[in-house]
Amino acid sequence: MDEREHTPRADKSEDGDSTGEAVADTDTHSMTGGDGSMTGDDNSVIETDAENVDTGSTPASADEPDSNADVDVGSGGRDRSSPDVDFDGVVLDDDDDNQGLFDDLLSGEPIFENKEVLRPSYTPHELPHRNDQINRMATILVSALRGETPSNILIYGKTGTGKTASAKFVSQELESTSQKYDVPCEVEYINCEVTDTQYRVLAQLANTFIEKNQQVIADLLDDYRELRSAAVDDESALTDTEFDSLADLDDRIGELEADADEMEEVPMTGWPTDRVYSTFFEAVDYHERVVVIMLDEIDKLVEKSGDDTLYNLSRMNSELEKSRISIMGISNDLKFTDFLDPRVKSSLGEEEIVFPPYDANQLRDILQHRADISFKQDALTDDVIPLCAAFAAQEHGDARRALDLLRTAGELAERSQAEIVAEKHVRQAQDKIELDRVVEVVRTLPTQSKIVLFAVILLEKNGVHNINTGEVFNIYKRLCEEIDADVLTQRRVTDLISELDMLGIVNAVVVSKGRYGRTKEMGLSVPVEETEAVLLSDSRLGDIENAQPFVQARFDN
Ligand code: ADP
Ligand code: MG
Repeated sequence: MDEREHTPRADKSEDGDSTGEAVADTDTHSMTGGDGSMTGDDNSVIETDAENVDTGSTPASADEPDSNADVDVGSGGRDRSSPDVDFDGVVLDDDDDNQGLFDDLLSGEPIFENKEVLRPSYTPHELPHRNDQINRMATILVSALRGETPSNILIYGKTGTGKTASAKFVSQELESTSQKYDVPCEVEYINCEVTDTQYRVLAQLANTFIEKNQQVIADLLDDYRELRSAAVDDESALTDTEFDSLADLDDRIGELEADADEMEEVPMTGWPTDRVYSTFFEAVDYHERVVVIMLDEIDKLVEKSGDDTLYNLSRMNSELEKSRISIMGISNDLKFTDFLDPRVKSSLGEEEIVFPPYDANQLRDILQHRADISFKQDALTDDVIPLCAAFAAQEHGDARRALDLLRTAGELAERSQAEIVAEKHVRQAQDKIELDRVVEVVRTLPTQSKIVLFAVILLEKNGVHNINTGEVFNIYKRLCEEIDADVLTQRRVTDLISELDMLGIVNAVVVSKGRYGRTKEMGLSVPVEETEAVLLSDSRLGDIENAQPFVQARFDN
């Protein structure tokens, strides 16, 4: 009876899918209070806990000769190493002499010269320790500049091994060289983690080429119309052109105008895939060119939508007349080709390039290159870069992690108003990044796993060590009843515990209990307080007011 009427659904997998990702409402501080008004209340002191910030170092107060712009503003007795902005003594005041919220932070010597250089979005111009890989890509892709079709390439390597950065570097070089020699060679980069269905990949490609074609047509039309107005006055303007007569030229103009009208952009959803494919096909084949399609995070595409896209793309060359395409797939997952149709697999993997993890020494070089341009001179103590490199080398040689560490260490130093980034900032950064990871993993766990984890936490908080599955299950059951959640079987709960183990949230070992069989014993591998706070921020678990009785019940059992 619950069957709904069959309403046609807009192809679920194709339209915007980012709904439902409830963004954690972490930052609800408001300086203005409920009414959001700061006006008419100029001298209002938000917090009068005034061991007030000492004045005198406001950068704006230039009229005060002895006001030194010293870093150490109002440090008397306060813990300046707190990584957060200190809200004590924040005064909303338009009087220049008072320290505002930002003055404190502004007045210090900045540690960074250019922080952007350390962000993942920055594409470095130099990629130490990737020469071999970059040269191999270039050797294969150079055919494109000769008007031939390059072999397809598959690139493998763990995250942070420089695949995306190298591929982007090579594609920039390829495009700039093709412009220099005026050969029609284009590179299209698609991140399949974002563009993750066949429809979207094809639509994005189709629309890119339609836009380019429109531009080509518009430029030609400009030229031809100019030629036409010259030829109307004097037909000899057409000598040495491809046109024999004014009528000829008019035909060509008419053709181009019709082409431009016909090219219809693909909507983000709604067309049958066939139509999207043929639109892309025609757009790319509109004129002669070699196109390299880079599919980054290609494993995500295959995982989500299968290998149809790759199948279709890889057999296009046999049907294209004017153009040729070549595919460069980039994967973090070394085994993803196992899921491919054998034909796709052999076509895509004509050439394979592996990006091995970086070792600590290589990471040092990479960091040093970036540090030279991102930090002020002498802003780092000598041990900072080696320590960042060592931490990241443990993390499977991930350059992204290394750069994150360095940037975060710099930010922590900056916030604590230190003048120099030191080893302790790197250690704090390592803890912070690790905690951020845990918070993110825990926050996105399914509810059932959260309940299981909460049970473990309750036991741990009550001083239980070597917690076994049975104990977790008992408390889990009571928690479920309390919040009206389905109670899974103990077997399923054991599976969920294994998953938490794999995520590094709990640490479980199987122990033999002799003739009583085997059980799992576990402990928490993440900080109790923070993890509990994340769990309780879930609206369902947050309903559990007082969990103590559930744990108490354990001892009654
Ligand atoms: P992947 O795509 O393999 O996950 P990225 O290419 O995104 O890795 O690299 C991660 C980060 O590390 C990026 O910020 C990138 O600029 C940087 N990086 C990686 N390898 C190098 C290198 N050899 N030299 C300089 N920076 C690098
Ligand atoms: Mg990448």
